[in-house]
Amino acid sequence: MPVLCSGCKEKRAALKRPKTGHSLCKECFFWAFEEEVHRTIVAAKLFKPGETVGIAASGGKDSTVLAHVMKLLNERYSYGLELMLLSVDEGITGYRDDSLETVKRNQQQYELPLKIVSYEELYGWTMDAIVKQVGLKNNCTFCGVFRRQALDRGAIMLKVDKICTGHNADDVAETVLMNVLRGDIARLRRCTAISTVSEGEGVVPRCKPLKYAYEKEIVLYAYFKKLDYFSTECVYSPNAYRGHARTFLKDLESVRPSSIMDVIHSGENLSVRDGVKMPVQGTCNRCGYISSQALCKSCVLLEGLNRGLPKLGIGKHHRLHDKLLSQQPLTEREERKLKSVDF
Ligand code: SF4
Ligand code: ZN
Repeated sequence: MPVLCSGCKEKRAALKRPKTGHSLCKECFFWAFEEEVHRTIVAAKLFKPGETVGIAASGGKDSTVLAHVMKLLNERYSYGLELMLLSVDEGITGYRDDSLETVKRNQQQYELPLKIVSYEELYGWTMDAIVKQVGLKNNCTFCGVFRRQALDRGAIMLKVDKICTGHNADDVAETVLMNVLRGDIARLRRCTAISTVSEGEGVVPRCKPLKYAYEKEIVLYAYFKKLDYFSTECVYSPNAYRGHARTFLKDLESVRPSSIMDVIHSGENLSVRDGVKMPVQGTCNRCGYISSQALCKSCVLLEGLNRGLPKLGIGKHHRLHDKLLSQQPLTEREERKLKSVDF
């Protein structure tokens, strides 16, 4: 006996929603998914009419669904937003070059302007060249730090008021877990925020309209809508630590689907005891980007690459930053310590 859709009670159900367990037809699922994103946007007051919003687009499923849904809701509910696509080219042959082709097709399909900023033009290094120097162990640290700044710089070039990213519920829950496991209280406090206000010069506010959307539902939505997205993994992945948090979360989800939401809620409701020391945000003495140290992470990593000392930005070497800033030479011992790629 075919199962009827519990939404319209007319059509045959095409899927069981991973988030709620409801059996729905395709149309009712699309509607439920889109309405939830809309409610998230409205409840958190993510946008104001007249704003220009840059959608961080990688060509992957999350950002493709984000671009599609943002365009659709902007029209359906007259948000009054001007939307643009913003992509970062990390310079990863066999991965980003192909996924950027998808973004370029999305640009045509959604008729949105597109800006691509590359690591090569911003930092003088591609990820291919970085991996050659640092190996495959800490490459994602370089990539993540550079991407954050690259998106800001691209957003400033495009003059957007806000960036929205495709982070989904699974990503947020993973990050909560990772920050708990690392004891990173400052990040734990920030990571569940649905939007960040401008934290300083050169930092564009960001928001996550898909914060409560399950990854499984994003995949279903993209699949049933036949969206054009790129699904290959980065050739330099995985980021091992996140991978463990991910596997752990997937195991929890298989016994209790609400685990993802539960972890997010736990993260949202944690409060930090008075007196716990938090890093003070200032600005980088070299590039002016936000930083809790004299040099921002990006400048330290870049200095390490340019000097052939890849370990410089990995781990705690804050005491060397003053030397770097004043261009003092490092001792032989310091050089030796920072040169090895076996970290
Ligand atoms: Fe960059 Fe690592 Fe992601 Fe690849 S897996 S795109 S190297 S952060
Ligand atoms: Zn800097």
